This record gives sequence, C-alpha cells and structure tokens, in this order.
Amino acid sequence: KRLPLDSCEDPGVRQVKGACFSLVKPQPLVRPRFVAVSHQALVLLGLSGDEVLQEPRGAEYLSGSRVMPGSEPAAHCYCGHQFGQFAGQLGDGAACYLGEVKVPPGQNPDLLLENPSGRWEIQVKGAGLTPYSQADGRKVLRSSIREFLCSEAMFFLGVPTTRAGSVVTSDSMVLRDIYYSGRPRHERCSVVLRIAPTFLFGSFEIFKQADEFTGRQGPSYGRDEIRGQMMDYVIEMFYPEILKNFPDRVERNVAFFRERTARLVAQWQCVGFCHGVLNTDNMSILGLTLDYGPYGFMDFDPDFICNASDNSGRYSYQAQPAVCRWNIVKLAEALAPELPPERAKGIIDEYMDVYNRFYLENMRRKLGLIKKEEPEDEMLITELLQTMHNTADFTNTFRSLSQISCPTEGENEVDVVRQATQLLLEQCASLEELKAANKPTMDPELAMLLSLAQTNPALFQMISDRATIARQLDKLSKLKDLMESSEEQLKVKQGEDWTVWITRYVTAVQDERVKVMNSTNPRVVLRNYIAQNAIEAAENGDFSEVQRVLKVLEKPFTAQPGLELPTWVGKHGTTEEGERE
Ligand code: AMP
Ligand code: MG
Ligand code: MG
Repeated sequence: KRLPLDSCEDPGVRQVKGACFSLVKPQPLVRPRFVAVSHQALVLLGLSGDEVLQEPRGAEYLSGSRVMPGSEPAAHCYCGHQFGQFAGQLGDGAACYLGEVKVPPGQNPDLLLENPSGRWEIQVKGAGLTPYSQADGRKVLRSSIREFLCSEAMFFLGVPTTRAGSVVTSDSMVLRDIYYSGRPRHERCSVVLRIAPTFLFGSFEIFKQADEFTGRQGPSYGRDEIRGQMMDYVIEMFYPEILKNFPDRVERNVAFFRERTARLVAQWQCVGFCHGVLNTDNMSILGLTLDYGPYGFMDFDPDFICNASDNSGRYSYQAQPAVCRWNIVKLAEALAPELPPERAKGIIDEYMDVYNRFYLENMRRKLGLIKKEEPEDEMLITELLQTMHNTADFTNTFRSLSQISCPTEGENEVDVVRQATQLLLEQCASLEELKAANKPTMDPELAMLLSLAQTNPALFQMISDRATIARQLDKLSKLKDLMESSEEQLKVKQGEDWTVWITRYVTAVQDERVKVMNSTNPRVVLRNYIAQNAIEAAENGDFSEVQRVLKVLEKPFTAQPGLELPTWVGKHGTTEEGERE
C-alpha cells in the first residue's frame, strides 16, 4: 500500500497537505511491561500469547518502544465531523501505525472469511506525539484497560470490532486532570496494541471541499486521484466479492457503500452497547466498532448517555441508529464523485429500513421467535422493551427469558405465567438501585439552575441551549416520580405489566428456542463497574483482575465455574475513566 506519505522528522502540530500518512517515531516508554495479552487476538498475527509474555522484549515491541525490523511507523491523517460540525484536519494524535502483518499461509483458513486480505494492520495507541496530537499523545492505564477489554468483549459477543492484542504499562508518567475528582494526578503511560484489517475511516473526509458552516477544507482537497486509489485499495483488499461481481466502477462503489453501518448499529442496539463518541472520524470504513472511549452498556434507560461531555444526548444509546445515518451522509459527501450523489441518496433512503430489518432479525433471535416470522413479532418486541423501560436490566432480562417454559398440555397456564412473572420481577431493579442509576450526572450548579428554571419561565427563556435544558428537566422530573413511588407500588405495577406480556409471549414461542436464545443473549457484558474494579486493582499493581475479566468476556454466553464476575453492588464507576483525561 503506497498512499502519499509525509516525511516528518519533527512531530510538531501542523496541517499536512496532500498526504494520507506522516512518518513518525513512537516514543519509547520507561520499563514497559505487560498488564495482559489477548491470546486470541495475537493469533491473528501468528503470535503465541505465552511466547510473547516470556519474550524479554515482548512488551517493548508491542508498545512501540522498540521498532520491529521492517516496520515503518506512521500517523494517519484524517478529518471528521465532531458533534455535528466539520472539525477539519484531525489525524492519529495518540495512535501510531506500525505496519501490516501477513497471516502465515495455511494458518486458520476461517480467518480469511473475517479478513480476506490476510493482512492485519497493527497500531500502538498511546505511543506519543505525532503531527496531529491535540495533547501529549499518551494514554493512561484506565483508558487503555477499557479499550483493551471492550475490544475483545465485543468480538466475543459477535460484534464487528477492531481487536486488542495487549496492554502494556510503564514507569513513564503523565499528569492528568481527573474529571470526577477535579484534582490532577500523575498516571502511568500505557499502550494498547490494536489490530484490524485496516483502520482507514474518516480518512476519506480529507478530500472534503470547504464546509458550508465552518469554511474549513480537508487538507487533501482536489487530490481526487488519491481518493480513487484509497477506494480501490479498500475494495480490492477487503471486498473481493464486490470486485468480482461489479466490473463497472460506479456500480462497484455503490455496492461497497451499502448496508455495513446499518448492520453494525443493529448489533450494538441488540447488546445494549453505547459508543459515546460517534463522530465521523470514529466510524470505520469496514463497519467495525472503533475507538473505545467513554462507551457504556445500557442497563435500564434507553436515553442512556455515557459521554459526560455530550450535553444534548446526541450520542445516547437511543440516538445511535439515526446518528450513524447522519454519519454515512457525510461519508457519501466525501466519496463524491466516486459515488454519484443520487445513487448514494437512494441507499441512504433505505438505511432505516435496512437497519430495522437487521434489528428485528436479531431481536427475534433474542426472544427465541425462531419459527416463521409473524406480524405480531414486532409488537411483542416493542412491548417487551416498554415493560422493561427504566425498571429491568436489559442484559439480565433477555438472558432470563429463556428460562420461561411454555405451558404443556394439561398444565395450568396461569401457574406458568405466575412463575415466569416472579422470575422476571427478580430481574427488576430495586428502587434503591434505580434511583442510583437514574441519578442525573450533571454538575450541582446546572442542577440548581434547572430547578430555578422550572419555576421561572423568564429564566428558562434566557438559557440558550433549550434542548439540553428540556432533557435535563425531563430527567429531573422522572427522578422525582421515582423518588415518590414506593418499592411496593413499583412491584405491583411491574407485576401487572409482566403478567400481560408473558401471557402473550408463552403462546408465541416454543421450548426448543432456548439454544438460540442462550447463544444470542449474553450472560455478561462489560459493565462499568466491572472495568472499574479491574482498573483499580491494576493501578495498585495487581493485573490478575484484568486477565480474569478477559477470560469471562471471552465466553460471554457460557457459565464458567469459578470465574464469576462480581454482581452489581450499587457501585457504578464512570465511563469517564475512558477518553476524557
Ligand atoms: P477521539 O475523541 O479519540 O476520536 O480523538 C479525537 C482527536 O484527538 C483525534 O485526532 C486524536 O488523535 C486526538 N487525541 C485523542 N487523544 C489524544 C492524546 N492523548 N494525545 C494527543 N491527541 C489525542
Ligand atoms: Mg477517535
Ligand atoms: Mg478516542
């Protein structure tokens, strides 16, 4: 792959025009050492995790502290739309491309289905300054552990994702302002080895013409030939089927633009994953989950926002399907004229239908609706989500649905429904948990302003960001309702709702559904407090919890005796352990 390169001796921050990559040197860490490796990800590179761990220089190589023979490290130039605005040139400011690893011939032919090119790009994230750095180019233990664990967790949940081969910590220190404590502290620089067929993504936006709102222009605007080469590269390497079936270039590009993102988001929604920062530069051209920062798994509330800087809820769980549609509109703009705008429009117009088709297909498996598709299925799904809303944990509820047995001949249906209701009520959170989970995460000053605004319309008028305020007010009033309802009232109400739903459910399904359900509904997802536990132990020098959590997440659908994760004890941690530092 020879896209235009920029030769960079001094990684000072600058505009890099007409190039896709800048050559850089990763900055070595002081005394790098492994926190954990993912054996299953390193296999992709033909490496054995055990050997890597034993190799005295293993951590040096996999953190970029020592450059491998033949490697030509580079930082990738890209652009993106951040929170709805074109942000101009961004680029790898903390990640660094080390090169590509070719899978040894004959090794695991299944891998070629996942990645037909047989090549894997490897990156070190947190390897220091590049021409695109917006800070020191370093990452700390907490953000690295979060990225490492969730990359692997998503893979084992069956969601397309970039992978993580290892996480390395060191004695190099950086000062970080910690959002939740408000006090800066020194933290250890850490590096994750990321692996993907390619990390190309917002890359295509460097060809953008001046933006109508910001007036900014991509640094490679006018380099149409590079755009064409980049598209050729992606399609030839990763979509050989499309290449074969569409000899016409425009038709090839149209086929390439279809479906990937809609399918990915449907999978996120079905495991409750909330990315948190769906800026276009965090979207992958291959439809992989990319850049794990303040992500979170939704538990009770679909309005869940995991990114504390996202005041308007642009990137809430609920908003993801629509926001990804917005993102592919931006991708289409960047691909024109390779992708004729009227053809792109046709595909974008179908996006929501395609998304709904994937979502429904996946949800039907989650409910065990494995027989012929029925018109009532959609209603059954919607009503389940309504019944769960704000009271029952998303992951646990789906997992327990498979325990509901259907009434057999002669059995009293009322008894079956009563037992099932009991079972599901056990999944419902107690009022205390709900209150904790619904606690607004806003700062006290804003909360004060809001409560004043509630009684003072003039003040409300003065506040500029109405949408944000309205959301926060809504949240406050929901919380107030919740505080006022008693545990008893809540249980009665839930019991009634569940009884109605289960009665319909047991008539729609059969017992042989269980296997499908148990391989679609995970027992465990990487909840915040689980990552948080592992981070706190690792910060105190004990890496075993990171390794243990990884082991559990490698088999999210199966109970592993002796490897249970702690259950929720009202401790949440914060997704801000991630990106914001
Ligand atoms: P993200 O929000 O992770 O997608 O990153 C947005 C931009 O900030 C990208 O251009 C990153 O390369 C850059 N960036 C993120 N973290 C760092 C860091 N620690 N040091 C320098 N640049 C960074
Ligand atoms: Mg990013
Ligand atoms: Mg990031």
